[in-house]
Amino acid sequence: MQSFAYAAPATLAEAMDILASHRRRKLRTQILAGGTDMLVQMRTVDKAPRTIVDIKHLKETNRLAVAAKETYVGSAIPGVTLAANAKLAERHPGLVEAIDLIGSAQIQGRATLGGNLCNASPAGDTIPAIIANRGVCVIASARGSRELAAEKFVVGVGKNALKPGEILLGLKFPRPAKGTADAYLRFIPRTEMDIAVVGAGVSVTLDKTGKCTAARVAIGAVAPTALLVPEAAKALIGSALEPEVLAAAGAAASRASKPITDKRGTADFRRRIVAVLVRRAASIAAQRARGN
Ligand SMILES: Cc1cc2nc3c(=O)[nH]c(=O)nc-3n(C[C@H](O)[C@H](O)[C@H](O)COP(=O)(O)OP(=O)(O)OC[C@H]3O[C@@H](n4cnc5c(N)ncnc54)[C@H](O)[C@@H]3O)c2cc1C
Repeated sequence: MQSFAYAAPATLAEAMDILASHRRRKLRTQILAGGTDMLVQMRTVDKAPRTIVDIKHLKETNRLAVAAKETYVGSAIPGVTLAANAKLAERHPGLVEAIDLIGSAQIQGRATLGGNLCNASPAGDTIPAIIANRGVCVIASARGSRELAAEKFVVGVGKNALKPGEILLGLKFPRPAKGTADAYLRFIPRTEMDIAVVGAGVSVTLDKTGKCTAARVAIGAVAPTALLVPEAAKALIGSALEPEVLAAAGAAASRASKPITDKRGTADFRRRIVAVLVRRAASIAAQRARGN
């Protein structure tokens, strides 16, 4: 019989050994980052014994680099550190906006970007923003490492694409092209400390004349997983983002959504609000891009 245990490996090799040896013995492990989702779940829905593997002491999960070609955000870095990084906020303002919305200052002292993605909640705030920023997951296991586009990482409610023995080491984002900016908006019925009823992350690239040459639109809390909506991006590309174009992108996002009705909102309400948020987020991203 397995009991609860806690391991805090100091190196990635040590973490891999712990995961591999538990797998060989058919013993369960679970990765701990900030614990803001996990500890709640341990007290409610998942009380089964296992070995908790804390990844906060690894070099690879603590690396933060806003470099010439790409941005790298280690999976154990708390939101408070990310939100305070001026270079990150300048390069990916919508992503930082999404991080900054998570919980309270206390929650952000622990909560990580990687944990928000791995937890795979349909309402996870950073997930649409990660997708809009062309995020790529860097995944390690004893067999080596692999990369996966963020839009393919979440595969269902609370389910991600990690295989047994794998750890999300961090997220890579290509440096946005000149004239690119992003924005993230969510709707909640309160002013804070609530989860998204609808979320929208949009990135646009404008040329010198103000024409949109590239776009990414991702929506959250309106389907079992956050969705990349190419039809909404298509509506934006080639235009000067006139009001009717923004409305068309919103309508495309609404058509792509597959919302449910729950205590936070009806499916019909969500379909309407996602159109509004996509329109507004695209407009904010465009304003930012004009300033870039
Ligand atoms: C009061 C409160 C308010 C909140 N408000 C919001 C909000 O406004 N918006 C929102 O989106 N969320 C919110 N959350 C949820 C939570 O804070 C976030 O999802 C947070 O980003 C999770 O990060 P973490 O590091 O704490 O993850 P953890 O709890 O450590 O992990 C979450 C899950 O991911 C797995 N995991 C974590 N990191 C890795 C990794 N690197 N590799 C493999 N698996 C991993 C864990 O095993 C676990 O299953 C709130 C939570 C609380 C308690």
